[in-house]
Amino acid sequence: SYLMFSKALIVLWLSCIVVTEAGSQVWSPIQAHKELASKLFRDPMNLSIASTDYGHITHHTPFAVFAPSSIRDIANLIKFSNSLHIPFTIAQRGQGHSVNGQSMTSNGVVVNMNELNNGYRNGERIIIVSKGRIPFADVGGEQIWNDVLNASLKFGLTPLIWTDYLFLSIGGTLSNAGVGGQAFRFGPQISNVYELDVVTGKGDVVTCSAEKHSELFYAVLGGLGQFGIITRARIALGPAPTRVKWIRLFYNNFTSFSKDQEHLISFSGRNETNGTDYVEGFLLLDQPGMDLSFYPVPDQARITSLVTQYGIIYIIELAKYYDNSSQGHVDQDLKRLFQGLKFIPKFIFQKDVSYEEFLNRVHAGELLLRKQGLWDVPHPWLNLLVPRSQISDFDQIVFKGIILKQNLTAGLVLIYPMNRSKWDDKMSAVTADEDVFYGVSFLHSTGFNNFEEFLAQNQQILHVCADAGIRIKQYVPQFKTKEEWAQQFGPKWKLFQQRKDQFDPNRILSPGQGIFN
Ligand code: FAD
Repeated sequence: SYLMFSKALIVLWLSCIVVTEAGSQVWSPIQAHKELASKLFRDPMNLSIASTDYGHITHHTPFAVFAPSSIRDIANLIKFSNSLHIPFTIAQRGQGHSVNGQSMTSNGVVVNMNELNNGYRNGERIIIVSKGRIPFADVGGEQIWNDVLNASLKFGLTPLIWTDYLFLSIGGTLSNAGVGGQAFRFGPQISNVYELDVVTGKGDVVTCSAEKHSELFYAVLGGLGQFGIITRARIALGPAPTRVKWIRLFYNNFTSFSKDQEHLISFSGRNETNGTDYVEGFLLLDQPGMDLSFYPVPDQARITSLVTQYGIIYIIELAKYYDNSSQGHVDQDLKRLFQGLKFIPKFIFQKDVSYEEFLNRVHAGELLLRKQGLWDVPHPWLNLLVPRSQISDFDQIVFKGIILKQNLTAGLVLIYPMNRSKWDDKMSAVTADEDVFYGVSFLHSTGFNNFEEFLAQNQQILHVCADAGIRIKQYVPQFKTKEEWAQQFGPKWKLFQQRKDQFDPNRILSPGQGIFN
């Protein structure tokens, strides 16, 4: 009865607006508002889920949550908002794994993209096409990458570039870029999309690609949800390996570490076989609760004493894929590759795992953290892109000057380089302004009573970089003022604004990013 009551309220709300704004309706208000109203929810459960995200720091309560069962529903909602004298904002929400309210709206409507799955039969919104020369997957924007992996593996195929965590939505990662250890070779996920279906901020349903409606295609990729809602993406696939050599190399010298990382990402041809398939890196800091579970138990003591000795150890994490046909020479290939690398002798650790286990390594950690009640906690994250020429300064000023000294870090600090040539500058996504740039991520997990210390540390990092002239950009950016957004987009800012005028002139979509609202 509560549901009926809240639905009745919504019908009343929509009717009020419809009565006031009847002159501007383009479709039959009675029919449309009833259909929309039956899919809008205001119950505490829906509102509370839509008012938080993985960050657990920012909270905004929407007026209602929309459960679309078709693309047409989404288009109708957007058109309805546009038809009003004062349109309401619409926040498309994938998995809500943002950390700063990006998929929220105050008083507007959150579109729960997951509901699209319920309007179709299970699995219907992932279609793998393997015939022809170029295999691809047609995937609903609400689908999660893990399901795309499972569906494509059935055909012996796989997407080429992965985020570290696979329970993120297609639309959510394509709105940022989607980076990971394979990006040095294949570029980010946005570089591996052939075509999109998008519902624009005007409610138009458009199929776009580099050839067709390319302005929308390039706008949406890395567009932070500002121009349209992705309802389908055609994603590049390639042959799937079966096994992975998963390796970690230890360094106490930052210059050697970064030189070796850059050497490894120089093997970047799409069909390259001499290099590795994945390159990332992270810091190991002298902290209580250091996660050493990757390493054999007999080695853990010497690792601990190494970290205690230096305070900070840099680790290159790499992977080499193989299958039956390459099994015979994979170890030889790796040996050759490691010649000349300057990691600390005897501090090389290796696992041999299945491809799925490797890709789902963060999910394994998630299950553990959930058990301990440590998954749904505040995540004051900061993701930066740093030009190669300034990464040593960054190490001095930030890693050694702040992270090591303050000893506050709780969670992972990632650092790995990417090749800018693999990104398409026509897309909205922003990179640091050099041929090679580093992604640096401070992925803190904190308590509910101390996350502010980490937010303050993040601000300090931004300030010291600005003072030292380090030309950083943010990835999954978080800004409060128009000036900051203009600086983030740099030469692309004007175009970004023009695209907003063109595709979402009433500034309806994704207000949680705080760019135009
Ligand atoms: P949401 O939080 O739901 O939405 C994010 C933004 O995208 C919002 O502005 C929203 O309005 C918009 N949006 C959502 N769906 C659509 C759609 N269909 N069409 C248009 N806009 C849409 N990122 C990486 O690149 N690499 C990583 O390795 C990586 N690892 C991560 C690990 C974890 C544990 C977490 C929590 C995040 C990680 N991220 C990583 C960041 C992640 O890619 C982004 O936060 C992404 O936006 C999350 O997807 P989501 O479905 O949760 O998006």
